[in-house]
Amino acid sequence: MIIFKEADVLARYLEKQQSMQRKTGFIPTMGALHQGHLALVKEAQKHTAITVCSIFVNPTQFNDPNDYKKYPNTLDKDIYQLESAGTDILFLPSVGEMYPHGIHQLEHYDLGYLETILEGQYRPGHFQGVCQVMSRLLQMVRPYELYMGQKDYQQCMVVQWLLQHLQMNIRLIAVPTIRETDGLAMSSRNMRLPEADRKKALTIYQALERIRRQITAGPLSPIIQEAQSLLEKEGFKVDYVTIADAHSLSPIDTWDGKQQLVALIAAFLGEVRLIDNMQVTK
Ligand code: AMP
Repeated sequence: MIIFKEADVLARYLEKQQSMQRKTGFIPTMGALHQGHLALVKEAQKHTAITVCSIFVNPTQFNDPNDYKKYPNTLDKDIYQLESAGTDILFLPSVGEMYPHGIHQLEHYDLGYLETILEGQYRPGHFQGVCQVMSRLLQMVRPYELYMGQKDYQQCMVVQWLLQHLQMNIRLIAVPTIRETDGLAMSSRNMRLPEADRKKALTIYQALERIRRQITAGPLSPIIQEAQSLLEKEGFKVDYVTIADAHSLSPIDTWDGKQQLVALIAAFLGEVRLIDNMQVTK
């Protein structure tokens, strides 16, 4: 695995590879890697000749400075895992490399409706930061395909919007969520959970599963209420439990029995905020 820290050196290397028709698969991450990240690497390896992973904890996408400060850093282990998985390139830029003119007064993206709901509503500015970092990373790497996790469902939609906005002909592959054996979605933030909360965290998955089992045509609010109560009983502070149209993410109050639906949950356990989602219709 070759490690690059400078964008122009990386871009020159990749241009040479791409001129030899070697397709690049790109996996952007914030590090603290787990099997979920490695599943993206494996998926990219199936379809592309060169896998490029980046690790960059992007300051502009954290609406909570404490969350940024406490974001886990396990770089040595990350490098070892990526190398063992056969990743070809790791891009490890600094904040100055990504934002040479500083992180203030950056460009604004008109995400419209997508930014007013769910993560956009509860984490103001978060998706602006995602677009700011992704537009830079994509210009630097110029991949053939981009691999991201369905775990961040709304983020996939935002990045799909960004690709169109930037008129970049890059295919976004959304990879299914990798879970622990008990069902908990793998997340770098799980590392911050105290031992006693680790079991409780599973309630998010159980609430999603319950929604999936209970879903029937008609009003959905009783099902949503029940999921919310289940979480609150376990001590979660719930940001949202929503059932939405799987394509537009518009919340659905009454299901016609046909639309494809996704259930999405965001909730705090102590000071750790967890998110998860599940397709709840066939
Ligand atoms: P992060 O480092 O959390 O920004 O995540 C980097 C990429 O890995 C994003 O595209 C995430 O959606 C994806 N990812 C995170 N957790 C998982 C998971 N449990 N399964 C699959 N992909 C994941």
